[in-house]
Amino acid sequence: MIIAIASGKGGTGKTTLAVHLAARLAKFSDTTLVDLDVEAPDSDAYFPEAQRPYTSAAVSIRIAEAVDGEFADTSACASLCRFGAIVSIKGILRINAGLCKGCGRCLRACPKGSIRERPMVIGQIGETRWERLTLVRGSLAIGDIRATAVIDEAKKRAASRPFDFQIRDCPPGATCPTVRAAHGADICLLVAEPTDFSVHDLAGALRMLQGMGIARAIVLNKAGTGQADYQSLAMRYDAPVIAEIPWTESLAKAGAAGRRADGDADLAQAIDSIVSYLGALS
Ligand code: SF4
Repeated sequence: MIIAIASGKGGTGKTTLAVHLAARLAKFSDTTLVDLDVEAPDSDAYFPEAQRPYTSAAVSIRIAEAVDGEFADTSACASLCRFGAIVSIKGILRINAGLCKGCGRCLRACPKGSIRERPMVIGQIGETRWERLTLVRGSLAIGDIRATAVIDEAKKRAASRPFDFQIRDCPPGATCPTVRAAHGADICLLVAEPTDFSVHDLAGALRMLQGMGIARAIVLNKAGTGQADYQSLAMRYDAPVIAEIPWTESLAKAGAAGRRADGDADLAQAIDSIVSYLGALS
């Protein structure tokens, strides 16, 4: 079973849930936790028991670059790129390596062969193990914007490892990286807080999942810290609220320190509810 964990807004406790759910499932099954929040991957920090160092591999894409020489119509080339990576100034063509997505469109269109490809490293995939848990981490190079290519590689790596459960810690929001991370999951758990801000962004994430045809459920975190109406959204988007985690100082402190809170009774009860719900689905 592939379980994506996402959230409308950041900071709701998405990684906290992913980490504790993975730790619980790994007690009785082969579990992979794959960190697809590639701009800020930190789920592995909650597992100091895991083997160090990580094995790692570079993620690279093939980007376009202009060959000095003859160009047919540089402004036509510039309008070809949907990502704004090609600039034409007074007949000179320049390609911004930081914006090129490597789609190859300009290469195929150039009648003079004046554009070629070169590899560019944009991130890393790391992997380690702890007992029955495999940790896979995608990390995007600092300042890079091509998150989806790193997400794809991390998903491929995770898929190549045998698992009973695969937990995906997805990027927050309802953007292209979130869509790419959640795609192919059997269910997506959305972590939300009972605040207006969180519920507003939860609606966007629910719409996204509905459009993708992915089953969804809500885990309410920091219960008791607000009165926002998440229940109406749950009904409208067919997303049952399957667990509630109250806000407690001890959980907040563990989260701030990047520590697991395996002994926390409220969190353990919420994880029990989630595991039972997933068990009933499988
Ligand atoms: S390969 Fe694609 S993204 Fe890159 S410059 Fe050419 S058209 Fe733009």
